[in-house]
Order: sequence, then structure tokens, then C-alpha cells
Amino acid sequence: MTIIPVSGQAFAPYDVVVGRGLLASAGERIAPLTRGRTVIISDRTVADLHGPALARSLEAAGVQTQIVAVPPGEGSKSFAELERVLDRLLEAGLDRKDVVVALGGGVVGDLAGLAAALYMRGIDFVQVPTTLLAQVDSSVGGKTAIDTPRGKNLVGAFHQPRLVLADIDVLATLPAQQVRSGWAEVLKHGLICDAPFFDWLAGPGAAGAKGDPAALEWAVIRSVEIKSAVVGEDEKEAGRRALLNLGHTFGHAIETALGFEEAALAHGEAVALGCALALRYSVREGLCPAADAERAEAVIAAAGLPTRLSQAGTFGADQLLALMAGDKKAEGGALTLILARGIGQAFVAKGVDAASVRSFLIEEGAKA
Ligand code: NAD
Repeated sequence: MTIIPVSGQAFAPYDVVVGRGLLASAGERIAPLTRGRTVIISDRTVADLHGPALARSLEAAGVQTQIVAVPPGEGSKSFAELERVLDRLLEAGLDRKDVVVALGGGVVGDLAGLAAALYMRGIDFVQVPTTLLAQVDSSVGGKTAIDTPRGKNLVGAFHQPRLVLADIDVLATLPAQQVRSGWAEVLKHGLICDAPFFDWLAGPGAAGAKGDPAALEWAVIRSVEIKSAVVGEDEKEAGRRALLNLGHTFGHAIETALGFEEAALAHGEAVALGCALALRYSVREGLCPAADAERAEAVIAAAGLPTRLSQAGTFGADQLLALMAGDKKAEGGALTLILARGIGQAFVAKGVDAASVRSFLIEEGAKA
């Protein structure tokens, strides 16, 4: 078991605990944070698989518990589900000294975190992430949000958890595509700022992409260390936190063009493809050695993740460019991209020339 402290100037410090069998001891860790009552927010799939173990552990520690389960999937990040969840918290009579527990993937974490931020002007919440993506990314850093018909994550709040319990054992029930999808975020962390970690992911660590628990455990630990260091320096994404968006501007555009509903591409698959594109674009601009982009591509592909536009679908260059410029990370019409000078050397590139990105997308197979 490893404890990674997360601290920053603007929020109370908290621990991320990574290890095996943590659900069984979750009650002991959560009980001191509450006056004796909690509501577990989950989705129906996760509630069935892991809700009873967590509830038992809490009850054994003397914490009165009930589970509120939302439908699985992105659709639950909605005003309607947020309202329903808040109503259930009121019905349960939680007060400001109680805690909400989010048991699930990024969808549940984002929804429950926002509900906790709003309930009685903010109560504490604990993240128990059950997808690899949630363990290495969304459960740490305090971003919470729901979607609106106008776009993803447009309504939300910064609300840091009080504690994060990342139990590697719950990943055993995760479908293979979800493991691969989370693995993309792990690879992303190495690509951003840790070349030795990327070497490990390319070698012995590669077993993690196939679900090996020992490899997954180290991958989660190192990813959380990297993410928490970045978030500690820059909670609200004024600067360095934007590095965590490596692959996301290309990736979001691809996801949006495909339509989220179809789920033709998991989020992590889009991020993996986006990382490969960001590195190749960096090579095109003379910023990054070609050998680094080729190696990154080989490692991403070996994990069963896409690296080429043609693997995702057919796209128009102008369509992708418009979606990239519309990304909320774009500033004043200029394109802001996360590019790299090599593996482990990502940087924020502002004012990127849209025409050169358009040419690049055409070279990559997008239609002119
Ligand atoms: P998810 O929460 O929808 O989970 C994916 C699927 O896996 C669901 O069907 C769920 O029921 C199932 N599942 C979860 N845990 C399981 C388990 N242990 N065993 C079996 N099935 C399990 O998706 P996700 O990929 O975890 O999260 C995606 C969301 O995260 C997006 O909404 C995205 O915007 C958000 N996100 C937030 C941040 C942040 O910083 N807040 C960062 C990245 C992504």
C-alpha cells in the first residue's frame, strides 16, 4: 500500500491511498471523516459489483450507509441526475459534517463531486475510483462537472476530495476496453514528463495494459504522483496543469466528430490517438526527434490503442480544425496545443498556426 499526499496552496491536503484490498478497510479510513452517516453514489453496474463490500466495511466501522445508483454512462452527468442525487442526499438527511462517497468511474466521480460541492454549500467527499482512468486521472485534482447539450463538462466546480482510495483489486472486473482506455492516460503521464517511467511502460510495465495487477499498481502510483505534483502547483489550470491535456485537443475533436453517443472510440482511445498526433505534429514542426514519436507510437500501438486517424474513422480536415479551435482550451481564436520536445518533455504551445495544423491533418489522412 502506498500513500501519496496531495497538497497545494488553495486547498486542504489529502491522501491518495493506492493498494490492494482497500475496500475491506475503507470503513476504518472513512469513519473518522464523518459523524456517522454517508451516502455512496455509484452507478448500477459498479453498485452491484462492489457496492456491498464497501457498504459492509462502512457499516462495520459504525457508519450508517445507503447507496444511490445512477444509470451507467456519460448520460448521468446531467442536470436531471444531479438534481436526483441532491434530493437523495437531502432525503438521507446528511449534514455538513457527513461525507459523500463516490464509488465508480469518472462519470460517478464527476457527478458525485459536483453534488458534494453544491450540497449545503459544500460537504466533504471521498473518491473510491473503480476504473483505471478514474484511478490515474479523474479522482485526483478536484475537477467536477456535468455535461449540457452544448458540450461536455461545461457546468462544474473545483472541489477537492477529502480522501482517495484506489483499490487495484476492483480493476479485475473492468472490461478490457476500459483497461486499455485508462492505460492511455498512464502512457500520457510518461510522455508528458517522465521518460524513465515511459521506458518501464514500454518494457515490464506493458503487462498493465492487459490487466496485470502488479504492473497496474505501480502505473497507478506513478501516475498519481505525476498528476498530484502538477495539480499541487496549478489547481485551476493557469499554466502547468494544461500539460495534462496532452493528446486531448486532437482527441476531443475526434471524439466530437464521431459523436459521443456512438461510443465508437473510448475516451482513452481518442487520447492515445491524440498523443500520437501531437508528437508527430511536433516532429513536423522541427521540435521533436522523429525517433521519439516513432517509439511513442509503437508503445501506444502495442497496448492495443489507435495511433492513426484511419483507425478511428473518416474526417474532414476543416471539421477537425474547427472542433480543435472550439475546444475550451483555445484562447482568443489562436490554437493552444500541448506539444513535445521528446518523450517526457511536453510543453504548452500557444498561438499555433491553424494552417499548418490543417496541412498536417491532411498529411495524416483527413480530407482536404
Ligand atoms: P465511466 O465512469 O463511465 O465508467 C466506464 C464504465 O465502466 C461504466 O459502464 C461503469 O459502469 C463501468 N465500470 C466502472 N468501474 C467498473 C469496475 N470496477 N468493474 C466493471 N465495470 C466498471 O467512465 P470513465 O472512463 O471512468 O470516466 C469517464 C469520465 O471521466 C468522463 O465523463 C470524463 O469527462 C471524466 N473525466 C474527468 C476528469 C476530471 O479531472 N474530473 C478527468 C478525466 C476524465
